[in-house]
Order: sequence, then C-alpha cells, then structure tokens
Amino acid sequence: MRCNFCHQRVELINGHCPVCSLKPFKVVKDFSKDEKKIRTKLIGIFFIAYLHLFIALVPTTLLYFNDIWPKNLAISLGVLNIFIWFLLTKLSLLGYRIAIAFYFCFGMVSVVTIQRSNYGENAIGIIICLLAIYLLANQTSKSIFERSLLGS
Ligand SMILES: [Zn+2]
Repeated sequence: MRCNFCHQRVELINGHCPVCSLKPFKVVKDFSKDEKKIRTKLIGIFFIAYLHLFIALVPTTLLYFNDIWPKNLAISLGVLNIFIWFLLTKLSLLGYRIAIAFYFCFGMVSVVTIQRSNYGENAIGIIICLLAIYLLANQTSKSIFERSLLGS
C-alpha cells in the first residue's frame, strides 16, 4: 500500500508505516504531539522537493533561453534539481545529502555574489537556502531519511 503521509509504497509493521512511523489509517486530529511533528516535517520535505522541481523547470529554462548562462550550465542545474526532487520524494538519504550539499554551495555562491545581483535575486536565494535547511536539516527529518523513527 501507499502511506498517506510519506507517500511511499510500504508494508505496514503492526499498523505503522516503516518509513515515517505514523499509522496511515489514523486521522490527523487524533495524532499525538510527536506524530503531528513528524507529519509537519514530511509536508516540509515534500514542499522543498517540489520547490526543486519548480527551480528545475522555470528559472533554469529562463536562464537557458535568455543566454544569461552558458547553456551547459543551465542544463546541469536543471538536471541536478530534477534529481534532487526525485530523490527527496523517495525520502532517500542520498537525496538528503545531495540537497544539503547543494544548499551549502548555492548559499556560498549567493553570499559571495550578492553585490552583483540586480534585483536582489541572491537575497531570495539565501532565504530559500535557509528555509530549506530549516525544513530538512533537523533531527526529525533526518530520522525520516535514515528510516530510524520506528523502533526508536
Ligand atoms: Zn509513511
């Protein structure tokens, strides 16, 4: 079956999803505080995943067609973001690691080049990086990626 909360195809263990540790048939209003926290973090992870899909499709395409960036660089950025989107929706630990590395590099580049940005686009980049790090790099999210919630 597919878990309602983490959207993974799973075999339940004693009624619990092995990935997110929630009970797929339990209604949200009956959730405990900890269960609500896990659900909120899952929503955050999927939000960030789809943000990567958006980045891969819209700004990258604009960079490609406006000849602002070399075409190869725009394509690489698009492919990398699709890859991160795909791995994050699978809640893969590899995706988590690549995403964190991506924010680190992207954040550094944005900070270093902020004075050259025309419309404050680098500031937006830094804010997105911080938001993504906040949503992904916390203990609950990390446990989801490591599949270590159930049994702990
Ligand atoms: Zn689940």
